[in-house]
Amino acid sequence: MALRTIRTEGDPVLEKKSRPITEMTPKLRNLIVDMLDTMYDAMGVGLAAPQVGILKRLVVIDVGEGPIVLINPEILETSGEQTGEEGCLSVPGMAGQVTRPNYVKVKALDINMEEVEYEGTELLARAFCHEIDHLDGRMYTELVEGELHRVSYEDEDEEE
Ligand code: ZN
Repeated sequence: MALRTIRTEGDPVLEKKSRPITEMTPKLRNLIVDMLDTMYDAMGVGLAAPQVGILKRLVVIDVGEGPIVLINPEILETSGEQTGEEGCLSVPGMAGQVTRPNYVKVKALDINMEEVEYEGTELLARAFCHEIDHLDGRMYTELVEGELHRVSYEDEDEEE
C-alpha cells in the first residue's frame, strides 16, 4: 500500500479545476488504490484527486458502506436540505457547519469506465457535494456558516 501526501489548505493545487479522465490506465488504477488507502489511513470518508496533487476528475468515498469510486462525476439531481458539521482532510483538525442538499443523485464512470449512478442521503449526499466541489477548486470552508472550530480527539484529551 502506498500512502499519498494529502495537500492542505493554502496549496494552490486545491484551488484549480481538474480535468476529465478519458481512459483507464494502470497508473490511474494505482492512483485509485492509493487514494482509498490514504483516505482509510486518515480516517476520512472521502478524498478527491486534487487533494493528493493530481488534477483529474476522480473521487473516492466510503461512508461506512463500502468504497465508491467516481470518475468524471456529475450531480444529476438534489433535493431537501441538511445543516451539519463538515470537515476535510485538507483542513486537518477543523470543522464547521455547512448546509447541503439532503438527497443527491450522481452519475459517473466506475473503475471499468462504465457509467454508474448513485443516490445518497445525509452523510453520503454531503460527501458527494463536498468531493465534487474539490474537482472545481472549491473548499467547504467557503460555505461554512459562522466560525470554523477545532475538533478535539479523545486520544488528544487523554494526553492532557
Ligand atoms: Zn475535502
